[in-house]
Amino acid sequence: MTKRIFAGIISVSLLTMIACIVLLMGVMYDYMGEKIDEEMKNEARLVEAALDGSGPDYLEGLDTAAIRSRITLIAGDGEVLFDSDADSEDMSNHLEREEVQEALAGGEGYAVRHSSTLSEDTRYYAMKMDDGSILRLSTSHYSKMGLVMDTLGVVLAIAVILIAIGALIANRVTKAIIRPINQIDLNEPDIEKNYEEILPLLRRINQQNARIRGQMENLSKQQNEFRIITENMAEGLIIIDRDMEVLTCNSSALKMLDAGESAETGTVLRLNRSEAFRQAVTGALAGRHLQTLLNVNESICEIIANPVYDGGQVTGAILIILDVTEKERGEALRREFTSNVSHELKTPLTSIYGVSDMLGSGLVKPEDVARFAGTIKEESARLISLIEDIIKLSRLDENNVHEEKEPLDVLGVAEEVARRLTPRAEAEKVELSVSGEHVQIMGVESILDEIIYNLCDNAIKYNKEGGRVDVNVSSQDGSCLLSVRDTGIGIPKSDLKRVFERFYRVDKSHSKETGGTGLGLSIVKHAVMFLDGRLEIESVENEGTEVKISFKAV
Ligand code: ADP
Repeated sequence: MTKRIFAGIISVSLLTMIACIVLLMGVMYDYMGEKIDEEMKNEARLVEAALDGSGPDYLEGLDTAAIRSRITLIAGDGEVLFDSDADSEDMSNHLEREEVQEALAGGEGYAVRHSSTLSEDTRYYAMKMDDGSILRLSTSHYSKMGLVMDTLGVVLAIAVILIAIGALIANRVTKAIIRPINQIDLNEPDIEKNYEEILPLLRRINQQNARIRGQMENLSKQQNEFRIITENMAEGLIIIDRDMEVLTCNSSALKMLDAGESAETGTVLRLNRSEAFRQAVTGALAGRHLQTLLNVNESICEIIANPVYDGGQVTGAILIILDVTEKERGEALRREFTSNVSHELKTPLTSIYGVSDMLGSGLVKPEDVARFAGTIKEESARLISLIEDIIKLSRLDENNVHEEKEPLDVLGVAEEVARRLTPRAEAEKVELSVSGEHVQIMGVESILDEIIYNLCDNAIKYNKEGGRVDVNVSSQDGSCLLSVRDTGIGIPKSDLKRVFERFYRVDKSHSKETGGTGLGLSIVKHAVMFLDGRLEIESVENEGTEVKISFKAV
């Protein structure tokens, strides 16, 4: 822009200068011509006066070197009578000359004739004298071209000086014009302080700036919303490009993959080094939908990998990560439960089948029939109690309890359970006692009964001869504490965590002997959960076990 402005100023200056010179030359030429014509006219008057006084001899004695103009005397018929520069006899008739014609017609005449060889013009002035002859004066002077050629050197010198000065000024002017434009702050153009001519441009820039600012704000708002959404997702979300570079990764994904505070950039394979994860990523980038399970420490994650298409091309992939630990463990528990139930049902049924088969075959001696029938009864009772326990557990599992919760006296329920179990305790030579205060909780009586019954039943079952079972109910800080403590065989530390699992038994043979199903403590656990209580177990092998439950008192 600087160069263009500079060139513009210089061109205009040059053109102006050339135009000035040309006009000046023209004016000078005309002025010179007029002056010469005027001089010739004066001289002609003087010569006429001299001729009137001295006669034609005046011209013969004229010192031609002393006068500037050429003098020609022409007769009325055009014959040249005298010429100061040439022999009049050699000269042709001048009647047709323009100035002569004009003088004959109007008293005086002017003419200019150009001589190409001399680069000069000759100016003529003719006046008609009283005797009818014509007195003509002529003077040569520069033609226009001659004038130009003669003054060319000076004109060029002046032109060069003017051009130099012009360039200097043009340079300064250009800089002065450009400076405010260079100083424009394009982010915040000051409309007031700038050239009127560029105001539309600045206004446009201002509008565009405002639009860009608006779009940037929108973009960052959207990004923020996206971040908030992904950060609050329980599911892990990873978006990668076709080169496996991480574009987005939320904290749930980092947590589930146990990738720590790993930078959310770089290759996604850094987040998990397992083969299954690598295959999910490469599969999705190859355009396949993949679902795979991943073991990360103690947890199980499900990876759902989907390709991202743009214009028919895979441009990246989205990985959704779900924590399916609970689900998978639930599934495993259910599978285990089903297989355990089948096994537990099959054992007594096989025994019943075998005994009844023998009875049916008539091979059993009459005195043994009662013993075989007893076995069938025993196994059937075991089956019934097992099925009852399964039904109770499934009701609690599915919250399928229709009784309304009501205020219950925990001590009262414990005393009732003890009353029912006393014969068994006595048979086992175990002392069963219930003590404490009357504290009320909100609950379902059959379920609270089930809890206390199972705990007391176990405390008697896994006790020693002469042992004790103490049931105590107390109130503490708005809670009802129920404790069932025995002085029995205790539970090894390694088994303590697992005794609430379905069908888990510490000593399988003993449990079977005592008619246990392995579901008692499972039922207790679910029943306590149903009543919103908290359960704890402490046990020392060979010393005894204490199960403590706290309920919210009312
Ligand atoms: P079971 O029907 O076999 O008694 P439970 O679920 O009631 O099943 O108990 C699970 C296991 O925990 C029992 O087999 C037993 O080994 C152990 N157990 C439960 N209560 C006691 C206790 N009071 N003292 C010692 N061991 C116990």
